[in-house]
Amino acid sequence: MLEAADGRLAARLPEGVLRPVQERYLDEPRGRYHGQAGLVAAPRSVEEVAAVVRACAEARVGIVPRGGGTGLVGGQVMETGPAPLVLSLERMVAVRALWPEENVLIAEAGVTLAGVRQAAEGVGRVFPLSLASQGTAAIGGACRPMRVE
Ligand SMILES: Cc1cc2nc3c(=O)[nH]c(=O)nc-3n(C[C@H](O)[C@H](O)[C@H](O)COP(=O)(O)OP(=O)(O)OC[C@H]3O[C@@H](n4cnc5c(N)ncnc54)[C@H](O)[C@@H]3O)c2cc1C
Repeated sequence: MLEAADGRLAARLPEGVLRPVQERYLDEPRGRYHGQAGLVAAPRSVEEVAAVVRACAEARVGIVPRGGGTGLVGGQVMETGPAPLVLSLERMVAVRALWPEENVLIAEAGVTLAGVRQAAEGVGRVFPLSLASQGTAAIGGACRPMRVE
């Protein structure tokens, strides 16, 4: 359900970033957790990500980043509390640059692990992280910051 605050936030987001709040943004592979969201935004650039984060901070709306949604511990869903904005990286899927001599690859956060591995293999290198979920899991999800209590 769209709250009035979500409507005000929506009006401040970059044009074209909003997506319908669909089930695929609220679930996780084992069905143990089920999320909620007031809005779903899928930015296309770093600038749009920054604009979404800025607008959410000003509106005091929480953000849940979402890569492939394959995490098994429920980090990609928020079950309770004020409905967040789900920030989906599904449209940021470019491998921007490769420097094989330096062993450096620059990928946007939504590129799948399989995509990163394939790009590295294309220049004779191995990206050495391989998961059963690599066709769906994104590099941003794999590199997310971990909080240690
Ligand atoms: C079949 C299967 C096998 C798996 N095998 C393994 C395994 O061997 N080892 C392992 O560790 N995990 C494994 N997983 C879990 C999961 O695939 C990995 O943790 C994967 O790295 C999650 O990536 P994702 O893009 O799907 O992240 P998501 O599920 O979308 O998100 C995971 C967390 O990262 C945050 N996040 C996502 N994108 C970003 C971003 N761009 N910036 C900041 N935060 C972000 C989310 O908010 C959430 O808290 C497996 C899962 C499945 C379904």
